[in-house]
Amino acid sequence: MSKHTWKKGLWTCLLVTALALSTAALSGCQKTGGSGGEQGQALKGAGNSDKENQVPADPVMLKRSESSLQTTIKEVDGKEVVTNPEAMTVIVNKQRSLPDGYEPTDLVEPNVPFSFDGPHEKRHLRKEAAEALENLFAGAKEDGIELRAVSGYRSYKRQKAIYENNVRTKGEAYASSVSAVPGTSEHQTGLSIDVSSPSVNNDLEENFGDSREGKWLAEHAPDYGFVVRYPKGRDDVTGYVYEPWHIRYIGADLAKDVAQSGMTLEEYFDEANIKL
Ligand SMILES: [Zn+2]
Repeated sequence: MSKHTWKKGLWTCLLVTALALSTAALSGCQKTGGSGGEQGQALKGAGNSDKENQVPADPVMLKRSESSLQTTIKEVDGKEVVTNPEAMTVIVNKQRSLPDGYEPTDLVEPNVPFSFDGPHEKRHLRKEAAEALENLFAGAKEDGIELRAVSGYRSYKRQKAIYENNVRTKGEAYASSVSAVPGTSEHQTGLSIDVSSPSVNNDLEENFGDSREGKWLAEHAPDYGFVVRYPKGRDDVTGYVYEPWHIRYIGADLAKDVAQSGMTLEEYFDEANIKL
């Protein structure tokens, strides 16, 4: 319908409205406006579009977008280094290193049972992750599940010693398959911890995943903000074979969403999978 016809329809409508004494006539006018009325509504819709754009996007999707793999990386001396080492959403892997000498500033010792006695840096996690771990262990206990913390924070220095020892005794290829090159271990973020159970001798082995405790952990970790970081059969994406014991804190809102998505963290934070 042309603009002219629509205007004509509008004038007719206004005239009828002006003359009408009852609301019945008003509603009739809106109805009999026909396509003119529809066009009027379409114009009204267009006028509101600015307002519609101001509706806040899904906060989880926004967090994903801000932390996407593509926006949180820069090249330093030929190495891909993350720009957000302190973010709860930082993604560190064999291709994405922490800045040289990175050390979290808020490491604390969570009050949970460990598999060993005595002080050690691996008893530590960043504050937010440590509190979440305490809640996770409390939840497990309520369900009759006995867990043990085995290894949390790992400094650059200690990762370097572990890696160099593996290279020395078993060769470079083996070393890089079982241990991370210094700066690329997620344990250095202070957001990861290895968890096991006395039922499997507190071992960090695949059979933990088949134990009652390992199954509980996989199912409930997201409720407390953790994800099982290296799922079965996804080593092509994560760079690591299945590690049912290695959990990573990213916050409860995202952890639940990751679990629901079935994606690895690499896929979850890839711009190709983020739709704002
Ligand atoms: Zn681990």
